[in-house]
Amino acid sequence: MPKGMARPLIQERGSRHFETPMLDPGAPPIGILGTGDFSRSLANRLVTCGYRVVVGSRIPKRSVCLFPADAEVTSQIEAASQADLVFIAVYPEHYSTLVELRPVLAGKVLVDVSNGLEIKRHGPSNAEQLADLFPDSFVVKGFNVISAWTLQTGPLDGSRQVFVCGDSSQAKASVTQLCHKMGFTPVDMGPLSSSVEVENIPTLSLSSWSIPLFCSLSLFVFFYLYNFIRDVLQPYIMTGKSLFYKMPIDTVNVTLPCVALVIAGTGLRTPGCVPHSSSCGWGTKYRRFPACLDRWLIQRKQFGLCSFLCAVLHAIYSLCLPMRKSARYKLLNAAFKQVKEGMEDAWIDEEVWRMELYVSVGIMALGLLSLLAVTSLPSVANSINWREFSFIQSTLGYCALSAATTHTLLYGWDRAFSPSHYPFHLPPTFVLVLIPSIVVLLGRLVVLLPCVGTRLRRIRRGWEENRHIRFTLPSNGSCNGPEDISDV
Ligand code: NAP
Repeated sequence: MPKGMARPLIQERGSRHFETPMLDPGAPPIGILGTGDFSRSLANRLVTCGYRVVVGSRIPKRSVCLFPADAEVTSQIEAASQADLVFIAVYPEHYSTLVELRPVLAGKVLVDVSNGLEIKRHGPSNAEQLADLFPDSFVVKGFNVISAWTLQTGPLDGSRQVFVCGDSSQAKASVTQLCHKMGFTPVDMGPLSSSVEVENIPTLSLSSWSIPLFCSLSLFVFFYLYNFIRDVLQPYIMTGKSLFYKMPIDTVNVTLPCVALVIAGTGLRTPGCVPHSSSCGWGTKYRRFPACLDRWLIQRKQFGLCSFLCAVLHAIYSLCLPMRKSARYKLLNAAFKQVKEGMEDAWIDEEVWRMELYVSVGIMALGLLSLLAVTSLPSVANSINWREFSFIQSTLGYCALSAATTHTLLYGWDRAFSPSHYPFHLPPTFVLVLIPSIVVLLGRLVVLLPCVGTRLRRIRRGWEENRHIRFTLPSNGSCNGPEDISDV
């Protein structure tokens, strides 16, 4: 086909008789309108995948040096005429400036890659607005969830999924094929009316982090201040001893496991326990839970990752503890004191055992939390079946919580019963954080009791306490349906 003369890719909008688009490397170039970050990364990726690329700019001279040598940077009209499939890599606010390209873009596939600034409940979406501006073209929504960075570095860095929707199946097929060739995984989201949801995906993913992050930060601030008052302020007020050097490492290090354990117990496991106990109490699983519980359940992964982050940071901080100058001085002073006072042996069997045990159990807990975090990655979750996934996330999740609780119990040892550990009548933080996790673990143990477990299993399979289904056997050869008996 001669350069500049685009053959109509698709004959007629709304018609089912389309010409199959050819997207083989070397065939008509892929067009990109706009020369911004997204356009540059996309052009690089397409050129790497063997495609010819033509980029349309308002001022081609300005951006030509930013693109790979194999990509042609030209005027918008020239690019639009050469390509059969054109990416619209400009912000939706500027779509109207492209209307003069309408005749050359007629019959072609336009890929809308734009994202919204906020969650939209109703249309029209950016893609639908583009379709209204170009009624003779075939608009496909896609690639908006892929960042310029992911395009640049390849699909191994970031999500591989590209959500695609559009009214023309042929146009969608050509974009899907392109996705595959670029190493991404296309996910068909249906007609163009679904583009509102597709455009919401990046904003929604971010919003699912807001509550877990807010809770984690609030807990961190609360426990940090609590530990600061107990461990730094109280000795300063009572004895004038300055322990402010503890603020950057010691106080942070006792705060992090508190946040990790409270989130692992309350944020992560409670939303799973509440449906169990409610179903058991109501005698049915068909009663609706409050919407906030649904939202909480959806955000469990984010809660889990926040807890994991705090646990990892706690491990790193703990490893650094002996390296600090303050710790070395303390050790030396203790040794001098020991020599001066003529003490023979500072070895206290109980202390040694306590430390050996709580470090070991803590490492186990971190290992299990790491396993949960790894299996929450979409690529790993996709490679295991749902039974394996629920075993890891539920059973091993409870094992991780038990290990973390045991780690805290061993760390606390008998100090919870010593009045000297209650400055200003404030209990140590390990006492506070143990309460929710022990409650959750006891709740789990109750569910494991045979009498509760059997009832729960029946409820999960649809049994209802106040409503029984009785099947009557056919008397005259015809099969009677189930008879619904209420309030038996
Ligand atoms: P950008 O860097 O600001 O580039 C936008 C480009 O639009 C400009 O370089 C400009 O190129 C072109 N343009 C055409 N008409 C224009 C006009 N009237 N006024 C201003 N610019 C005009 O933006 P971007 O980051 O590449 O994003 C482009 C689109 O991709 C957006 O819809 C965005 O939502 C979407 N997206 C971006 C990313 C990302 O990671 N950046 C990820 C997913 C989706 P010329 O001056 O050469 O014409």
